[in-house]
Amino acid sequence: MPILLQRSASDRIMRTFKIIIFLLLPILLGAEDIFLLCGSPEQGGLMLGKVSNDVENVFFDYKPIQISDNQFFIGFDRDEKLNHIITFVLKNGEMISQKFAIKAQKYDIQEITLPKSKKQYYEKPDLELTARINSEARILRKTRDKIVSNERINICDKFSRAVIGGHISSVFGSQRIINKVPKRPHNGIDIVKPIGTPVMAMNAGIVALSGHYFYNGKFVLIDHGYGLSSIYIHLSENLVELGDSVQTGDIIGKLGDTGRSTGPHLHWGIDFNGKRLDPQLLDNMDEVFIRIRKDNE
Ligand SMILES: [Zn+2]
Repeated sequence: MPILLQRSASDRIMRTFKIIIFLLLPILLGAEDIFLLCGSPEQGGLMLGKVSNDVENVFFDYKPIQISDNQFFIGFDRDEKLNHIITFVLKNGEMISQKFAIKAQKYDIQEITLPKSKKQYYEKPDLELTARINSEARILRKTRDKIVSNERINICDKFSRAVIGGHISSVFGSQRIINKVPKRPHNGIDIVKPIGTPVMAMNAGIVALSGHYFYNGKFVLIDHGYGLSSIYIHLSENLVELGDSVQTGDIIGKLGDTGRSTGPHLHWGIDFNGKRLDPQLLDNMDEVFIRIRKDNE
């Protein structure tokens, strides 16, 4: 029987065989490890799994996960259920299952008032504008649907912040009311910095869209493979084009105030197979949550 170790990032462990605290370990699979799961076990969180060559298949909540380069990602939506199970089937036929719970987030309500100069963003759009908005939404949806595991993308376990420093004016998940009209929850984070601040790719990827849309303003969407994509909106300038390859930290655009924006800021969003994730939680990608080791006895 392999040894299961799980670290609680959230005090919500359901069941563990043995608990060990790991602090600031690099995300490296040791010779004795079968499996590591790192990142943020909470709503809006992203987790990176690494498996040894002993592992044949991985199932998350009983559904198969695509492994590429001995790694895979798991993401939790804004309102994701809290209890999960991960299962590994080893090449020798042995099966290991581990239940775990993720932490629930608390979301606030945010009221936003757009100035009169931006009234086109809160007044009812005319037929022509409605057609444009619908068409842009369709292209975004279709592009995100096409984002699939891509082994050409050499995504690494170190994520970059989209901008260095800056004040976060709007967190992930807030329920939004814009000019007194309830809207969908905020599906990214807003970082305030001056216009022209360089905006960087959070990881390696391929530019899947680069354009100027009504709500987004100028924006860049990057496909990172593994079902993971990131979007950078309200830019003043796009510096990459469709199909460009980017590396972690590459400058892809400049911060701006285009589209439905209340002032200079970057809206940075992450999508994982249709789930919206919280970019702030990428800071915890180094934290080991579950480690499964070979039994040496
Ligand atoms: Zn935003």
